[in-house]
Amino acid sequence: MTSGPEGGAAPEGRAVPFYCPYCGDEELVPQAEPAGAWKCEACLRVFTVRLVGLASG
Ligand SMILES: [Zn+2]
Repeated sequence: MTSGPEGGAAPEGRAVPFYCPYCGDEELVPQAEPAGAWKCEACLRVFTVRLVGLASG
């Protein structure tokens, strides 16, 4: 159950970060594994951005 279009996060679920949350660099490369992960070319950290929900106000 590790492959297939339904195996991971939905494509719409991938949030696109503009800056590395750890070092602030903009050189982010999408990673195939894990799904939805990004690699920072500056500090080599791999991370994901997850939407929790919307604030009520
Ligand atoms: Zn970084």
